[in-house]
Amino acid sequence: MSLVVNDIIPQLQAEFFGNHPENSIQNVSIDSRSLQNNEFTLFFCIIGPNHNGHDYIQELIEKGVKNFVVSQVVNPTPEINFLKVEDTLVALQQFAAFYRKKFSFPIIGVTGSNGKTIVKEWLNFLLSPDYNIIRSPKSYNSQVGVPLSVIGINEQHNLGIFEAGISTVNEMQKLEAIIHPTIGILTNIGSAHDEGFENLGQKIKEKLKLFPNVDVLIYNKNKSIDAFLNPNIKTFSWSSSDKSADVLIHHKTTNDKTSLNITIDKTCFKINIPFSDEASIENVIQCLMVMFYFKYDFDTIQNRLSLLYPIEMRLKVKKGINNTTIIDDSYSSDFQSLKIALDFLESQKQHHKKTLILSDIFQSGLENDELYSRVSQMVISNKINRVIGVGETISHYKHKFLNGITFLSQADFLAHFDSLQFENETILIKGARSFHFEEIVSLLEEKTHETVLEINLNALSHNYNFYKAKLKPETKMMVMVKAFSYGNGGLEIAKLLEYLKADYLGVAFADEGIALKSNGIHLPIMVLNPESTSFEAIIQHELEPEIYSLKGLNAFLKIAKQKHLKDFPIHLKIDTGMHRLGFDEIHLEELISILKNCKTVQVKSILSHMATSDDLAHHDFALEQIEKFNRISTYISAALEISPIRHILNTSGISNYPQAQFDMVRLGIGLYGISNDANEQKFLENVGTLKSVISQIRTIQAGESVGYGRRFIAEKETKIATIPIGYADGIRRSWGNGLGFVVINNQKASIVGSVCMDMLMVDITDIPCVEGNEVIILGENPSVSFMAAKLSTIPYEILTGISQRVKRIFYRE
Ligand SMILES: *Cc1c(COP(=O)(O)O)cnc(C)c1O
Repeated sequence: MSLVVNDIIPQLQAEFFGNHPENSIQNVSIDSRSLQNNEFTLFFCIIGPNHNGHDYIQELIEKGVKNFVVSQVVNPTPEINFLKVEDTLVALQQFAAFYRKKFSFPIIGVTGSNGKTIVKEWLNFLLSPDYNIIRSPKSYNSQVGVPLSVIGINEQHNLGIFEAGISTVNEMQKLEAIIHPTIGILTNIGSAHDEGFENLGQKIKEKLKLFPNVDVLIYNKNKSIDAFLNPNIKTFSWSSSDKSADVLIHHKTTNDKTSLNITIDKTCFKINIPFSDEASIENVIQCLMVMFYFKYDFDTIQNRLSLLYPIEMRLKVKKGINNTTIIDDSYSSDFQSLKIALDFLESQKQHHKKTLILSDIFQSGLENDELYSRVSQMVISNKINRVIGVGETISHYKHKFLNGITFLSQADFLAHFDSLQFENETILIKGARSFHFEEIVSLLEEKTHETVLEINLNALSHNYNFYKAKLKPETKMMVMVKAFSYGNGGLEIAKLLEYLKADYLGVAFADEGIALKSNGIHLPIMVLNPESTSFEAIIQHELEPEIYSLKGLNAFLKIAKQKHLKDFPIHLKIDTGMHRLGFDEIHLEELISILKNCKTVQVKSILSHMATSDDLAHHDFALEQIEKFNRISTYISAALEISPIRHILNTSGISNYPQAQFDMVRLGIGLYGISNDANEQKFLENVGTLKSVISQIRTIQAGESVGYGRRFIAEKETKIATIPIGYADGIRRSWGNGLGFVVINNQKASIVGSVCMDMLMVDITDIPCVEGNEVIILGENPSVSFMAAKLSTIPYEILTGISQRVKRIFYRE
């Protein structure tokens, strides 16, 4: 990119405050943590749900940034250019649209409900031997992600592939203006994001708004789409049934392979692909259609398709050997996604020390000199302590990295593995597929069994923001992370909440809080049930006890006074009807007389807990609790002449009693994606997926039995798969015997016989699958709520019951 500020001002209709309109602009940023080439950066101060870019201006000026797009100018400075606009996000989009117009090569725009990212990545793989491709990194397909992707275009590129994702109406035109695709792909229309649209028709119409200017639209021919299609748009369609489509494709699947029978221009031929699930087959066909459109010959198509592999789109966080944390991004190494991975590394902050293991980078569209200089700048601004490069090119640029070690090949690296010493650090592993970095990951990874609970950190952020949006702007948010964040994993989630700027964390016992504090969590932490034996530790680790009785108060004050503490924060719990913990009204006078003029502690907050916030049948009781809380907390505050934070609502309270937010709310189960309100549930995203694999498959005959007590007897020939997860992992024994099921290749497999301690068996007679295939135990389907209802319990018990021997894996999409 080579622009000057003066070119940009009119494009954004900006008001200019500054003296240097001739400043050169070579790149754009919206994130203070991933800067490069600071002097020539144009920084857009975006206002997001958690961060406001304007807050970082001073820090950025100190780092050398000279040009900002802002919605307000607070401190005009002679050396700094400010471009003032109405809305900085709109300005970013306008800038991207302006920049896009400077290039005239073909751009493929992909949208649809599912498969966008996979289609984009596969097309990149299939076409990269012949083109220099710019594509959206990961699934950067939003109102912010799309402009940032497009801004990555440079003079070397000759083909673009960008995806566009929308969640409601009036978003697609904006993305169209930025991507301005010349070739369109509509993957499919499913139920993702349904809540943002009135009906299917509205959703289809909105998605089609990506394509008004394309030379061709590639799609799976379908009457409900055709009804909305502008007849002037040229299409290139496929179908398995509709003979009026341009290409007819039938498929036949056996085990893990599929053969496609294709008829195009009256010619028939057959192609084999290494996939068996419907979604992958559909995605391959979209790519195949593009290759037809680009007039590839049949042999090349067959050759390249046979090399396709499932794409791992996610950054995974895993526990490593010697107290390390591994961020596994071992399937790609392009410049854009390196930036994203480094941002993620920064947000994780698990250890002080950070190592980057990086292979040669392909397809950056930059000359190597320039490329590795930029990588080196990113490494410096992300404070990476050690870079280990693998590959001939990166070895050549070793001098660009302080503390850099390089190896010519993966084999060379593995030979020196023992001398490299990995301990107490976070390791980002990022490599192009041809380097097989999965071998490095498997060396560094802590070995545990194959059942894992995957935690989607994007979904957690989404759910957090969903509830945050229900609050008045000034209402604070405490998030309950007791019982390992409801079974999901304490530390990683606490880190994320800190990043999201939650105000408080809540734990049940002191040791949970100590674990968080000693791993570097700085947020204040309230301990709901501090035992008097833990008071010393609470004080030492600066945790904040909830005090719920005179006995507890006196015991705490005794220790606090011995230590000459001043204003140590405590929280007073009032019993308003739950009758679990809390001061009764009759204790108030004594409570007040002890605290009056007491300098040792400071009442940080007053709280109570509702017994029926989730059940509107007890609406009157709930209102009485709220009223009582208001009365008593007002009384204490007045008597002590203090104004503490007041809070009573849990998750369902936030939804059902919005008038009772007081100063703070305590979010629990909602963060983890569960609501007891069916309508609200639609807006939450699933956080945890409990997964395992098939250990063994066998076929039994009619009359033969499965498992302890012969509780399942086959009525006909039956295929049985054994899965290594049982009641010791938290799957109730009673979930077996036909009540529960697991999901294998998107199909339900009923659990036969009783669940054993470490294993369970399922009926897979009608499901194509092989040993080693993935099995979903809990997640989107079956959901925790569904399982809880069937087992006559509540989701809380299922979630927190998943045993600690199940490894937790955290990822971002
Ligand atoms: C667990 C807990 C919460 C959170 O409840 P959810 O129903 O999970 O939102 C809030 N307050 C207290 C005192 C709790 O113990």
